[in-house]
Amino acid sequence: MMQTRRGLLIIISSPSGAGKSTLSKRLRIWDPNIEFSVSATTRAPRSGEAHGREYFFHTKEEFQTLINEDKMLEHAEVFGNFYGSPHGPVNDAITQGRDVLFDVDWQGGQQIRNSSLGKHVLSIFILPPSIPELERRLVSRGQDSNDVIEGRMSKARDEISHWPEYDYVLVNDDLDQTEDKLKTIISAERMRLSQQPDIVETVRRLNSEFEDRQ
Ligand code: ADP
Ligand code: 5GP
Repeated sequence: MMQTRRGLLIIISSPSGAGKSTLSKRLRIWDPNIEFSVSATTRAPRSGEAHGREYFFHTKEEFQTLINEDKMLEHAEVFGNFYGSPHGPVNDAITQGRDVLFDVDWQGGQQIRNSSLGKHVLSIFILPPSIPELERRLVSRGQDSNDVIEGRMSKARDEISHWPEYDYVLVNDDLDQTEDKLKTIISAERMRLSQQPDIVETVRRLNSEFEDRQ
């Protein structure tokens, strides 16, 4: 009998600039079956970002309508903008055995963990190796003004304070090593008991085979 598995809801959080988008992209190259949860946001697109690929870009009014229509698995205000994960694609993906990757802040992590899908959550927190390196990465990304970078740095301490709520915490020093650790964690967690609904059938069959021996 073919064993099926349930998909995981993989939550990756970190202070802005620690490397979660870079790592998420690498994970999806490793396994293209991992679905990226494209969030809705009210922030303006950065250069190179496309509607429907990195984010669904909305006005505040449109975003409020999505909440009112109960289209969000979670939503939160981050850096003065609204962000949220649509729940539409999630249920189908995990019952069909596809993992969904969420790049959300700690508030999103808490809401997804406390949702009815909580037992399928794998949450990973990414720390920067140092605070000067975090700032260097934000500057080198070249996407934000000095004011925006300052805002992200002052939020970083608050975001980092939520590390104990996560299943795994990784320090993203060497990118290749962090990527390898993430792949190891995901590979193992896919075999977690909660992800193997058919295992009960296997044990039943083993038990009936015991009885056949008598
Ligand atoms: P986040 O999504 O957490 O805000 P990004 O993935 O955009 O962060 O990374 C911020 C910047 O740091 C990018 O320019 C990225 O290329 C770089 N970066 C990410 N991880 C590392 C690493 N381990 N070593 C050096 N630079 C990194
Ligand atoms: P950025 O503007 O740099 O893309 O994202 C800023 C912050 O918002 C990051 O910490 C990111 O994880 C968080 N974020 C992105 N999408 C969502 C979402 O759908 N929900 C929540 N709660 N946070 C999000």
